[in-house]
Amino acid sequence: MLETLHQSNNAEICKPLVEAVIEKAKEFQQRFGRKPVFMEVCGSHTMALARTGVKQCLKDVVNLISGPGCPVCVTDQGSIDAMISLAEGQNRIICTFGDMMRVPGSKKNLQDSKISGKDIRVLYSPVDAVKVAQANPGKEVIFLGVGFETTIPILTLMVGEAENLGLENFSIWMTTKMVEPVLRYLLDTAEVKLDGFLLPGHVSIVLGEDSYQYLVDEYHISGVITGFETAEMLTGIYKLIDLSLTGRVAIENNYPAVVSKSGNPVIHQWLNKYLNVCDEAWRGMGVIPKSGLDLKPEYDKFNAKKRFTVEVSETRQTKCRCGEVIRGIISPNQCPLFGKACHPINPIGPCMVSAEGSCAAYYQYMRESF
Ligand code: SF4
Repeated sequence: MLETLHQSNNAEICKPLVEAVIEKAKEFQQRFGRKPVFMEVCGSHTMALARTGVKQCLKDVVNLISGPGCPVCVTDQGSIDAMISLAEGQNRIICTFGDMMRVPGSKKNLQDSKISGKDIRVLYSPVDAVKVAQANPGKEVIFLGVGFETTIPILTLMVGEAENLGLENFSIWMTTKMVEPVLRYLLDTAEVKLDGFLLPGHVSIVLGEDSYQYLVDEYHISGVITGFETAEMLTGIYKLIDLSLTGRVAIENNYPAVVSKSGNPVIHQWLNKYLNVCDEAWRGMGVIPKSGLDLKPEYDKFNAKKRFTVEVSETRQTKCRCGEVIRGIISPNQCPLFGKACHPINPIGPCMVSAEGSCAAYYQYMRESF
C-alpha cells in the first residue's frame, strides 16, 4: 500500500499512513530504546512537514530535525553586507528574491538600505534581472544569486541570456551552495546523531539518485529521496525507519516519477559549461571548502565579485541561534528569542525571515504543539 499511494494527499489515505509510521516507529523504540532521528535536509520539506501536521502527528515517536537546506537561512552576513555596499555605489541596481530583503547583515539588511533610497528591487523570477539590465543601459545591474542545485541552473541561463544580448551592465554575486559538501560537513562534525536523511525531491531531480551513494559507502547512513505531498513524506519516513530496523543502509528513491538515477544531463551540461567549484561561506558553519559554485573565468564580466571591489565587515555575533538551528543542534523553540524578541514581524535571524526557515515553520504551525 505504501508503495502505491505515495502520490496522494487524501486524508483517507494519509491517516492509515500516519498510523503505519507510528507503529513502525514504536517498533524502533522498542528495539533501540529511543526515537529514530531523521534530518529533513530541505527547507521546503521543513515547511511542508509543519504545514501538513506531519511533524506534530509524529512528535512523540520520531525526531524530525530540520537541516541546512534553506538557501536564505544559510546565506552568510558577508554576502548581505556586500550587496548593501554595492548598492551604495552610483548608478547601481541590486536585484534579489523577496526573502533576501530582511536577512540580517552585520549592521542592517537590504530592506533598510532600500528604505534609505538605494535602488534594490525584488524580482519574482531571477531572469527578470536581465530585462532590468536591458532596460537600464546606463546602470550596473547586480543580482544576488543564492540557492542550491535547483536554482543554480537558472543563474547559468541568465548568464547565457546576458551573453546573447551582449549586455555589459549585468552581473551576478554568486553565493550558491551544494548539498553534498554540507551533508559531509554535518556527518564529519558529528554534532548530531542521525539515523537517516529525508533527501530533497527537487534538488534530486538535478543530482539524481546515484549522487547520494557516498552517504552509504563512506558514512553508512541511509537516505530516502522524497517529494512534498503529505503521503510522499510519510512513506519516506516509513522507509527510513524500515531501513533502520532491517539494518540495511541504502539510498531509496521515493520520488521516481521525476528523479532518475543520474539526474538531469542537460542541466549538468549547463553547470559544467558555466561554473567551477569554489569555497563558500555558510551562516553558522563558516567557509566549507568546495561547497559552492562560481562562474568560470571566461564569464568574469558577468561575475560581480570580479567586477567590483567590496570590503566585507567582520561577522557580528548576535544572540540569534540560527547557526545551531541550521545544523540541527537545537530546535527553534530552544532559542531564547523564539516567539519573544523574534517572530515573523520582527525576525532577528534568517530562519525566521525565510518562507522555508525552520523558525518560521515552528512559529507558524508548531509553537503550540511542542
Ligand atoms: Fe534566530 Fe529567531 Fe530562530 Fe532564534 S528564533 S534562532 S533569533 S531566527
